[in-house]
Amino acid sequence: MNIHEYQGKSILKSFGVRVQEGIVADTVDQAVEAAKKLKEDYNSSWVVIKAQIHAGGRGKGGGVKLAKNLDEVKQKATDILGMQLITPQTGPEGKLVRKVLVAQDVYYPGETETKEFYISVLLDRAKGRNIIMYSTEGGMDIEEVAAHTPHLIFKEEIDPKVGLQGFQTRKIAFNLGLSGEAFKEMNKFIASLYKAYDATDSSMFEINPVLKTSDNKILAVDAKVNLDDNALFRHPDYAAMRDTNEEDPTEVEAAKSNLNYVKLDGNVGCMVNGAGLAMATMDIIKLAGGEPANFLDVGGTANAQTVKAGFNIILSDPNVKAILINIFGGIVRCDRVAQGVIDAYKEIGNIPVPIIVRLQGTNAKEAKDLIDNSGLKVYSAILLKEAAEIVKKLLVN
Ligand code: GDP
Ligand code: MN
Repeated sequence: MNIHEYQGKSILKSFGVRVQEGIVADTVDQAVEAAKKLKEDYNSSWVVIKAQIHAGGRGKGGGVKLAKNLDEVKQKATDILGMQLITPQTGPEGKLVRKVLVAQDVYYPGETETKEFYISVLLDRAKGRNIIMYSTEGGMDIEEVAAHTPHLIFKEEIDPKVGLQGFQTRKIAFNLGLSGEAFKEMNKFIASLYKAYDATDSSMFEINPVLKTSDNKILAVDAKVNLDDNALFRHPDYAAMRDTNEEDPTEVEAAKSNLNYVKLDGNVGCMVNGAGLAMATMDIIKLAGGEPANFLDVGGTANAQTVKAGFNIILSDPNVKAILINIFGGIVRCDRVAQGVIDAYKEIGNIPVPIIVRLQGTNAKEAKDLIDNSGLKVYSAILLKEAAEIVKKLLVN
């Protein structure tokens, strides 16, 4: 699960990581109040107004603006709140900005001694270890650095048996070219950042930029955080940070019905019980010349309720030209699933695309008979190959 910058920073702060302080606002008035409070609390007369959306590259898209007085705060908050922000990570349609973070200006005016770094902690799945990635080339162009000068990005592996060691934080601070007070600060920063990543069961904490101020403080100016969905049950306070406005609406709907759904770009909807079978079904669709419109695992107990929820979610995608239901009857008997499909079909009424049902396993024959005799416009098959051929024929016509 992704969260907003302001939420990521509040987590970081709770683990003792120094951050660029800020206050989140939903309205222009709140943004002005926030700026006044930042002046009182941190003597920050300049502030930055930062769009809160689940995508990076906001600075490039005009979603991060410096304001030098309250009039400018008002002006810039008005510009950013409600804008459709397009960044290299949002896609061409952009994302609606509903909140801004009003943050203290930490690049003090006329400053030459500041330096921006890149630091992230993430899971290297191939190595099975957490790693810290870092670079002296922090700021807005880290993707360019990765593409053209990858040797400027360093990696430090963490041994899960002993965790992050002091020599490693010192090595990183040294490689970042720091000394004296800033070196000490960076050691503390990395140790606390790693603790935050580890204790929250995250799969990524990306801080870009990490800023060294002219008075040698090290702080997080940005925070891109991904929390592991499978561990959210252990962190109800973080689970509550979910912002469904930022997520695909059909995926949100599917999660409510306990369905594992991922939207794709093709034209054949799939409904399958079991993730492995779902993957195989997508392969078969491709072999037959179609493109899967989604991944949908309805789980072990495919009954009329889940099948109905599945139909509704698949049909909400206008690209879908056919639906392939592929069910293996192991724990659940095929005839029960077939009955579920028939009931769901009747309840929904007129389904505008052809449905191909392939049932294999316990009572597959009974299931096929049920469907063939239901009088509904549902094609049935027992072999996956047959099902794929029906899909192919239907797509051509
Ligand atoms: P991103 O573009 O989505 O990654 O958003 P960031 O939070 O990283 O902000 C983008 C850029 O805005 C940073 O790289 C900084 O150059 C700039 N920026 C952020 N905070 C401040 C600030 O306090 N003062 C000034 N002058 N610039 C800032
Ligand atoms: Mn950034």
